[in-house]
Amino acid sequence: MSTDRRQELAAGLGAVRSRIAAACEAAGRPADDVRLVVVTKYFPASDVRILADLGVTDVGENRHQEAEAKAAECADLDLRWHFVGGLQSNKAAAVARYADVVESVDRPGLLPRLARGAADRGATLDVLLQVSLDPPGSDHRAGADPADLLDLADATTEHPELRLAGLMAVAPLGEDPASAFARLGAVRSEFLARHHPAQVLSAGMSSDLEQAIAAGATHVRVGTAVLGTRPRVK
Ligand SMILES: *Cc1c(COP(=O)(O)O)cnc(C)c1O
Repeated sequence: MSTDRRQELAAGLGAVRSRIAAACEAAGRPADDVRLVVVTKYFPASDVRILADLGVTDVGENRHQEAEAKAAECADLDLRWHFVGGLQSNKAAAVARYADVVESVDRPGLLPRLARGAADRGATLDVLLQVSLDPPGSDHRAGADPADLLDLADATTEHPELRLAGLMAVAPLGEDPASAFARLGAVRSEFLARHHPAQVLSAGMSSDLEQAIAAGATHVRVGTAVLGTRPRVK
C-alpha cells in the first residue's frame, strides 16, 4: 500500500478526530460520545484497507453496486458498513445482505425488502430513518417528512429482522446548518418520547460536523475532510 496515501489519510483522520474532540468538549460531551463514519464513496477499496489499519471502524457508501463490490473486497476486515445513499426499492434486499446499518430509510415500502435481505443473511439489520430537513414543497426532498416519521418508526418495529436504531439527516444547502439541526433536535425529542432505545443521531458531514455535534449527533459521516476531494463521477 502506498505510504504517501497512508500519510494523507492519517493526516485527514487526525484533523477530523481533533475537530470531533473539540466539538464534544465545546458541547460538554465526552469525546467518545461521537462515532466517526468515514464515507468512502468513489474511493478505492485500497483506501478502505488503509483506513481500517488506521483504526477506522465504520465506513459509509451511497451507491449500491460500488458498495457491494467494496464490501466484498474488504470482507476480511472488521468494519461496520453503513449505507447512506438514496435507496431504490428493487435494490433494498441486496443492500441488506452486506450493510450493517442502513441510514437512509425514508418510506415504508423499503421495510419488507430490507427485512428479507437481513433474513437471507441471518443477521439483524440496524435501521436509521432519514428525516427531511428541507422546506416543505422543495424539489429535492431526501428523507421522510417529519410528519410521517412516527408512522414509519412504528412500521419498522413490526419487522423482527430490523432494529430501529435512530435517525439520520442531511442539512439542506443554503441554510445555516445550526438552524436545520436545531429543527432536527425537536423532531428527535418527539421521536425519542416514543422510541427511547433508538438513540442514534447520524448528522454532520465535513463542513458541518461541529454544528451537528452541538445539536446532539452521535454519529458524523465524513468523506472529503478525511479522503480529499472525490474523483469526478464518470
Ligand atoms: C457523501 C456523503 C457524506 C460525506 O460528505 P462530505 O461532505 O464529503 O464529508 C455524508 N453523508 C451522506 C449521506 C453522503 O452522501
